Amino acid sequence: MARELYTARLAHKECISVPAQCFHFVFVLEGMESFSYAPGQFVSAVAPDQNGKQQTRAYSIASAAKANRFELCVNRVENGFFSNHLADLPDLPVGSAIQLHGPHGHFVLQDPITDSIFVATGTGIAPMRAYIQWLFPEDGPDRSQGKEIWLVYGTRHETDIYYHEEFEALANRKPNFHYLATLSRPQDGWQGLRGYVQDHVARLIEERAARLGQPLPQPPVDPSIPPAALNFEIYAYICGLNNMVASMRERLTGFGWHKKQIVFERYD
Ligand SMILES: Cc1cc2nc3c(=O)[nH]c(=O)nc-3n(C[C@H](O)[C@H](O)[C@H](O)COP(=O)(O)OP(=O)(O)OC[C@H]3O[C@@H](n4cnc5c(N)ncnc54)[C@H](O)[C@@H]3O)c2cc1C
Repeated sequence: MARELYTARLAHKECISVPAQCFHFVFVLEGMESFSYAPGQFVSAVAPDQNGKQQTRAYSIASAAKANRFELCVNRVENGFFSNHLADLPDLPVGSAIQLHGPHGHFVLQDPITDSIFVATGTGIAPMRAYIQWLFPEDGPDRSQGKEIWLVYGTRHETDIYYHEEFEALANRKPNFHYLATLSRPQDGWQGLRGYVQDHVARLIEERAARLGQPLPQPPVDPSIPPAALNFEIYAYICGLNNMVASMRERLTGFGWHKKQIVFERYD
């Protein structure tokens, strides 16, 4: 059965990193009053390529649901069809459109909200930004329920830390939101964290376990408990390219984390 295609009109496009060629987009859905989705879900964008063949690519929504708008964060992939199609959409006069279906995906927050570690590299920050906007809305009640939320965000260079000021401002405002940006190839003068996200996540898990007096690795979960009844007090949400996701999952498993505690989305 053919999926229903929506038309999304570009309302704003901004290059948020020239070196990484990363763009932030705001789209408005035509003929719809609201677009409802869970933070962390993605849309499937559809467009014909130069040979007239329909191409479809997934893009995580980078904002919490708000009326009929949604935002994307996309970087150009060398010789990639869709990322360049989006990056080249004319911004002015406002009005370029794309076709899409969705929302799709299961990379969503567990209910109830627990302490959570959001781990992202590159444009893997997109669904994390949606989570964060939903948990800590600017114009509504806080949904974080006082749980500790860590965002561990890794990129190579300082210029590729997308939405840096937004996250810094939120961390200053919300004592239970902790923002750790780390660079794998920092230039001289970078005062922040260095190295890979995996190491920083490992460190904060060790510190948290010590603070709570918990053993590491954690003892295995009783296998007689049915999976649907498993409720953990902390989850990790990981998004980015497969190498990072795989290595982060392995690290967490090494701490005795259960696979149900590790929610992930791979972009490749
Ligand atoms: C669930 C999901 C959500 C996603 N959300 C986002 C998002 O929010 N922002 C975003 O920028 N991308 C996102 N992606 C990746 C996106 O779907 C495309 O794969 C990406 O934009 C490249 O598409 P393309 O048509 O430009 O390249 P293609 O024409 O498909 O590929 C060109 C070449 O680039 C390589 N390649 C493909 N994807 C990537 C990649 N992501 N990084 C590096 N090399 C790649 C391919 O192996 C190929 O050699 C997401 C992917 C998934 C599965």
